[in-house]
Amino acid sequence: MNFFKRKENLESFNQDKDNNSRKVMEWIKVYRVRLSLVVLTMCVLFAVAYGGYSYVSANVQSVYHTYFNGEYVGALSDPEKVEAYVEGRKQDIEKQYEDYTIAFNDEEIEFEMQEGFKLEAEDDMVLSELDALLSYNIEGYELVVDGEAIAMLKNQQEAEQILERLEQEYTSDVEKQASVENIESVLLSIEDTNSEELVGQKFISLDSVEIIEDVDVEQVSVPLEEWSDSSYADPEELFESIQTGDVTPVVYEVQQGDCISCIATDHDIPRSVIYDNNEWIQDDKLQIGDQLDLTIRKPKISVKTVKTENEIASVHYDTIYEEDEELLKGQTEIIQQGQEGMKVMTFELTYVNNQLSSETVVNEEQVLEPVAKIVRKGTKVIPGIGSGMFSWPVSSPNITSYYGHRWGSMHKGLDMTSSDKNIYAADSGTVVTSEYHAGYGNYVVINHNNGYQTLYAHLSQLNVSAGTNVEKGTVLGIMGTTGNSTGVHLHFEVKVNGTNQNPSSYLN
Ligand SMILES: [Zn+2]
Repeated sequence: MNFFKRKENLESFNQDKDNNSRKVMEWIKVYRVRLSLVVLTMCVLFAVAYGGYSYVSANVQSVYHTYFNGEYVGALSDPEKVEAYVEGRKQDIEKQYEDYTIAFNDEEIEFEMQEGFKLEAEDDMVLSELDALLSYNIEGYELVVDGEAIAMLKNQQEAEQILERLEQEYTSDVEKQASVENIESVLLSIEDTNSEELVGQKFISLDSVEIIEDVDVEQVSVPLEEWSDSSYADPEELFESIQTGDVTPVVYEVQQGDCISCIATDHDIPRSVIYDNNEWIQDDKLQIGDQLDLTIRKPKISVKTVKTENEIASVHYDTIYEEDEELLKGQTEIIQQGQEGMKVMTFELTYVNNQLSSETVVNEEQVLEPVAKIVRKGTKVIPGIGSGMFSWPVSSPNITSYYGHRWGSMHKGLDMTSSDKNIYAADSGTVVTSEYHAGYGNYVVINHNNGYQTLYAHLSQLNVSAGTNVEKGTVLGIMGTTGNSTGVHLHFEVKVNGTNQNPSSYLN
């Protein structure tokens, strides 16, 4: 209520009071004049005049007609009583609701003084009427999301803090990542840094944070009679409920035979819900009895964050073959080792409540050139001279017995079968033997004229004769089971200067 207004009124009352007193005096004067007309003695006149004045003045009373918002309430003996009463009420309420902001309505109490005979004030009635008319509101701040009030808070700071916390919730990880050494300084010394340390490193910066919904904080006043202790939301509970969206929590206990994708299918939820809600899961490992939170959250307020991620990736080197006539065909020699290069891939990542919603490559920049691997490749062909590099003597071989000690004796070759029965020369060379032997059956020996010899045994048919030069891959004959053999297969030996070697060491 407007006390200033009331005080001004009081001042005017005081002036009125003086005016009224003067009017009474004038009235008395008139009265006295009338008395003088009836020709009384001076002393009678005096006595009567004096007595009359005393009587009037003893029975003239001031009352204050009290108006509430322009409506008449009643007559009051003294405006101070209302002031004291209103102050008292206000203090009581402020004490009762000391944590809150009370709004005292801007109501107007006005007084109009009247003086006259035997006017009666009804103070108790006026005060009890005013008590019913005066109203008080508790102020609150509503959090309004897309036009819908979701909760009321005690003050604006509480509401703003909740919004700040939400934004922080989805940006704190970036702040952590931002503490990683700045990419610029990493790139400056990239040539001196071990690429294994750098590849895969990410440098993330936050571009924007935005609340998707239209969120306002609006001041509201709640009449005291509509107020309850639960009218204000608890900021902590509100923060939780904004994030989960008042959905009923779903907890699932892991059973025998469960797996993450099985549980996701059974509950018809995306697997990402399981991972996001249960960050303790590692390598998809679940134990019987584990409690999984399967709640699908429906946040009331969503935070969109846009991040730029620079990731260092490797650039694979090329292999360049340089033909070399000096080198025998089939031989190679590495003359420069390859070295991986590095590039910086720049992505723009958009997240809604920490869930990746889009990923775009915005730039790709090579920061370290790869070094090509250079290989000399021999082209020189000398008939009858092997390259020293062996190929399989049958195609798609199936190994049936390895080189080494077998059944108490030494197995000097490698046994193999294949659906393709052709036997191929493992390298170029000169056929030095192509004949029948009691143990080897039909067999071929090639001297590669470089220290190596290869032997092919148990053939059903021989296609080459001793003394001829053969190219690598020439068909020497057909797989068989001649000589001391238990089934159709090739027995293959490799010798270096006459000494048997493990053929597996030369084939790959
Ligand atoms: Zn054998």
